[in-house]
Amino acid sequence: MELNLLVLCYLIGSVTFIVGLKMLSNPASARNGNMVAAVGMLIAILGTIFLYEENGQKLGNYTWIFAALLIGTVAGTMMAKRVQMTAMPEMVSLFNGMGGACAALISVIEFRHLVHTSDAASIDQTSLLIIMLGLIIGTVSFAGSMIAWGKLNGSIKDFAFKGQHIINIVLLLMTLLLAGHNIINRPDQIEFFFYAVVVLALVYGIFFVLPIGGADMPVVISLLNSFTGVAAACGGFLYDNKVMLTGGILVGAAGTLLTILMCKAMNRSLQNVLIGSFGGGSTAGSAAQAGGGTYKEVTLSDAAVVMSYANKVMIVPGYGLAVAQAQHVCHELEKALEAKGVEVKYAIHPVAGRMPGHMNVLLAEADVSYEKLLEMELANEEFKNTDVVLILGANDVVNPAAKSDPSSPIYGMPILEVEEAKHVIVNKRSMKPGYAGIENQLFFQPKTSMLFGDAKKALQDLLAEVRNL
Ligand code: NDP
Repeated sequence: MELNLLVLCYLIGSVTFIVGLKMLSNPASARNGNMVAAVGMLIAILGTIFLYEENGQKLGNYTWIFAALLIGTVAGTMMAKRVQMTAMPEMVSLFNGMGGACAALISVIEFRHLVHTSDAASIDQTSLLIIMLGLIIGTVSFAGSMIAWGKLNGSIKDFAFKGQHIINIVLLLMTLLLAGHNIINRPDQIEFFFYAVVVLALVYGIFFVLPIGGADMPVVISLLNSFTGVAAACGGFLYDNKVMLTGGILVGAAGTLLTILMCKAMNRSLQNVLIGSFGGGSTAGSAAQAGGGTYKEVTLSDAAVVMSYANKVMIVPGYGLAVAQAQHVCHELEKALEAKGVEVKYAIHPVAGRMPGHMNVLLAEADVSYEKLLEMELANEEFKNTDVVLILGANDVVNPAAKSDPSSPIYGMPILEVEEAKHVIVNKRSMKPGYAGIENQLFFQPKTSMLFGDAKKALQDLLAEVRNL
């Protein structure tokens, strides 16, 4: 009876993971989707703690288990409450690294269990294979995620040297060969080699992520996230635990799909992200040669007039809006314009910002209605009927070079075709480039006017002007 109850807990867990993941695909249901999956996870965890039995024995160790749960819950809740929206990728990276470490520790424990409780002849090689896979993938994910975390919070700098990729390939091959050696040659005699695999996988994880451009980290984190999923699925396979297997496979698949989607939206191959320099710390943020021609500036009052007397205004949010934390005042401006009879919508590029869904989350935080957010394809259809496009701290995602300049590093990346609108107002602080480190010809077009300043301050002033009209 109890076993059936446990199976039921696992079934509920698995179903909620799938339902929760599906709900995450829509901003309106995402928050609830997260809750649904979390409740399912809680049921699965409590079921395991209280109902799981081996040889008629329950898990026990409740003090240890609940002390660890308490510490983890308090630490996780505090971090999640404090984190800034722009620091979200680094927190995801830290949490993902912890997942990888857990998966690797499961392998270490199960390896010791297998070696110390079975006689040499009865060691099951399939279990060993899974242990090794979980160990390598989990360790690489842990080490790589920690480096990604350090890079994103600025404590670790990009580091690359000539021939590094060759060294990485050699390291990976050595790790795999040693692991294979362990599986074939009964590890009871050679436990040392098992720990050598741990060290090699750690070094490989570090070297794998170190040379990748700091700004490419979200793609790498997504990839490492899928690694953690696969490593957790190995644990599920070892324990014959269906919910762990399902959860691991879902994370692995979702992480892989997200990685592919991000690469597609940036029109780059995964290989280019992993070994290319676009978006690297050396180029991103460097000063642009404003050699693209002359640009014109617009005053706050003129911008307010153009927008207030427009029929339709489209706001294009970007990374700068997130940095300035200008989402709330942006929503205020939207309401002020609507009060004057202007139709206001938002055009959302899939990789605007620094993490997938960045703009959706940011605008949701400010209570912007989901119906106002147009995905790129829809927005591109609407620009020709738009009077004013207001670009707030976005750059690469509106750069026409992606369509017209085959030599541009972003050539082929789908963009928001804002130049189809009648007027374009660009708010940023200077003529510096964005993430890709390249100039944007949009800023020099006759229909474009620049509104320089920090997005929050500029929007506050613009709002005051609009209200005074
Ligand atoms: P960009 O990085 O291209 O441009 C952001 C602009 O914001 C900069 O030009 C900067 O100009 C301006 N800015 C910075 N701070 C402020 C501020 N306080 N107030 C006003 N403006 C500010 O951002 P986009 O959103 O257009 O494009 C995202 C880029 O990130 C793409 O290249 C994408 O490929 C990449 N990327 C996105 C990922 C994702 O998942 N979303 C993942 C990985 C990469 P200035 O300094 O002059 O103010």
